Amino acid sequence: MTTLAGRLLVADSSTRQMTLRSGSIRINDGRIADVTLNDDAITTTDGFRPLTPGELIVCPGFIDAHLHLSQFGIIGAHGLPLLKWLDQVTFPAERSWQDENFAREMTRSVLTQLLSFGTTSFCGYTTVHHDSAIAALEVASQMGFRGMIGQVLMDRNAPTDLCRETNRLIDEAAETLKRFPPTSEMAAAVTPRFAITCSPQLLESAGALAAEHNAAIQTHLAETKQECARVAELFDSARYVNVYQDAKLLTPRTILGHGIHLDALDRQTLATQGAVIAHCPTANRFLGSGQMNRQALDQAQVNVVLGSDIGAGYERSMVSVARAAIGTAASLGNTPPTAASAWYDITAGTADALGWDDVGQLRQGYRADVVVIQPDFTTQMQGHDSIIDPLSQLMFAWDDRWVKQTYLRGQSVWGG
Ligand SMILES: [Zn+2]
Repeated sequence: MTTLAGRLLVADSSTRQMTLRSGSIRINDGRIADVTLNDDAITTTDGFRPLTPGELIVCPGFIDAHLHLSQFGIIGAHGLPLLKWLDQVTFPAERSWQDENFAREMTRSVLTQLLSFGTTSFCGYTTVHHDSAIAALEVASQMGFRGMIGQVLMDRNAPTDLCRETNRLIDEAAETLKRFPPTSEMAAAVTPRFAITCSPQLLESAGALAAEHNAAIQTHLAETKQECARVAELFDSARYVNVYQDAKLLTPRTILGHGIHLDALDRQTLATQGAVIAHCPTANRFLGSGQMNRQALDQAQVNVVLGSDIGAGYERSMVSVARAAIGTAASLGNTPPTAASAWYDITAGTADALGWDDVGQLRQGYRADVVVIQPDFTTQMQGHDSIIDPLSQLMFAWDDRWVKQTYLRGQSVWGG
């Protein structure tokens, strides 16, 4: 039995915000055995109890809803728009994954990096290489992560050695689902890269395969205007969202990266189908893709989660990604999310949107995927209530060195 005490990051599902409460959790056999809270929730009108130096903050592990395991080595290839960046940087890097052992070792290395940033769950893409996708699933599973990984499906408009014959890809994707079914804690996901690199037959077969297995689906949507124009050329001027809808790829278990260049009708389609958008603000800024209008998606009742989108994204920390999402909303002139709701986004909110009912919160019976944080900034107004929300202080003064220890299924796997 392990006990962690301090101030707990506790989810309030009714307001979709996190609050900080004094208390402790006990961990037994990989799960949270119980949660004890010693104070009442504090609201802005009460004034906030300031953070005190040395105080420990116990958080549910962070969830990254969109990343590319094969792209950690190309973070920082700046100055290219999406389609050129794919051709000149990404596809060459993804060739390395034809070596299964390379893929296995790289997965181990990048997942260890994620733990050091407090990320304990993720939705990841690999490459077109089947054995490497299986190897990545094995490593993530053995390390104890929660989430999903998909073998990238591409049968056209990419280098020929990174394309596969359509039926072979579907057979391989089916094999990943057999080995790591959707009910697994680390599951395979059906992952057509995006409409440009997938024939209509591949998209349709991928949709049918996902339906057959009730599997999660990952793909990209409307990241750049140039990409949208290319999709219109390839698919008889169809709306981008309808290309996916027609292939039965829009479901409540679908996570679409980006969704920047959408109109009201597109948003309505996404809401009706229950598909989830993975907002990746750092990657969007890096490639100059545009700024996603989160407020418009919220108003249309489209579920939105946050992703690092490494390697176009350059931040491995989900706290930094959450902060960037606040910045994007502010720069569009929208009402930005509060820090308390941004903390919710990278924990309970994503778990909720993805239907994961065992992570994202410090809650009895949940997996003990936990991050212990020790902020070191100097407190002000010692002994008095503060007018500054400590969750806002934590997010905006964030320093990755504050992550002191990360637990997966109750085991200390980083720091300590
Ligand atoms: Zn991506």
